[in-house]
Amino acid sequence: MAIAPSTTALAIPAVCPRCQNPNHKGSVFCDYCRVYMRDETLTVERATYTRRFFGDWVLEGLLIIVTLVIGWFIWMIFTSKTGQSPAKRLVNTYPINLETGRRIGQGDSWLREVVVKMLVIGALNSFTSGLAGLIDAVWLFFDKDRQALHDKVLKQVVVYAPHGLPAGMDYMEFAPPRYTVPPAFPIGGTTAAPPAPPPPPAPGVQDVAAELRELNQLKTDGLITEEEYERKRAHLAEKL
Ligand SMILES: [Zn+2]
Repeated sequence: MAIAPSTTALAIPAVCPRCQNPNHKGSVFCDYCRVYMRDETLTVERATYTRRFFGDWVLEGLLIIVTLVIGWFIWMIFTSKTGQSPAKRLVNTYPINLETGRRIGQGDSWLREVVVKMLVIGALNSFTSGLAGLIDAVWLFFDKDRQALHDKVLKQVVVYAPHGLPAGMDYMEFAPPRYTVPPAFPIGGTTAAPPAPPPPPAPGVQDVAAELRELNQLKTDGLITEEEYERKRAHLAEKL
């Protein structure tokens, strides 16, 4: 899974940077002003119950019926490019990966909307007379990050961004890997050859990775502002 290069961006603040209220629950959202506290622009908010209920469930269900299912799937090909389902596109909500702090990618979008929500929960519903879907939905009323059960499993939260997500929250998959997998320990005296090391990343990627590390160091040393850092990082990301 992709890991964001900057760990400071993923910290959960003890005090809301927008309204200064204390974060008692340790949530990624402010309990008072709803802001998503990991976003430096402070323009992204937690999706409301109404938006979740009508956006995630009622509207999606209607769109699937109205478009005779196949239309929804075709629409999904386009909306999944921003990690959204058709209904989420209409109500301006985005699933965010809690591990990267960024929106989910196209593959994760299909995994979420079709595999998990339609197939898995759909199958469980048919065995439990709809109880599984009810538990999944009701879960978000008691969760500090407003996660439904499927959000919890996928490690995602849903945010509301009426003007789109800021560049710092756009999807990004980082190469090269930050660690190497140790060779497998031989079992029962077998002399299986250790797995071949992963191929070295392309020179371009190595250069960008080195520049990213340097940029991170500059930020840590306080030699550049947060704004410069974001701008330069976005610029580097384009090279990948
Ligand atoms: Zn706040």
